Amino acid sequence: MKKKKKRLTKHHLVNRCMGGGNELSNLLALDEKRHQAWHLLFHNLNLDEVISLLQRLKKAKYEIEPPM
Ligand SMILES: [Zn+2]
Repeated sequence: MKKKKKRLTKHHLVNRCMGGGNELSNLLALDEKRHQAWHLLFHNLNLDEVISLLQRLKKAKYEIEPPM
């Protein structure tokens, strides 16, 4: 069965309202579903804020459940 081609959308890593531009280094191609999921999870956080959030979650997880 042929895979349905997904339409890609442009996500701004630094939001336009925070001064992010349309340069390639600030754009991430995501299909619509993933783009919606990103904003559902991370709202308009920039990439550094998302990474920092995930690092805090990882640290919190290891405090509850230390890695073996
Ligand atoms: Zn976006």
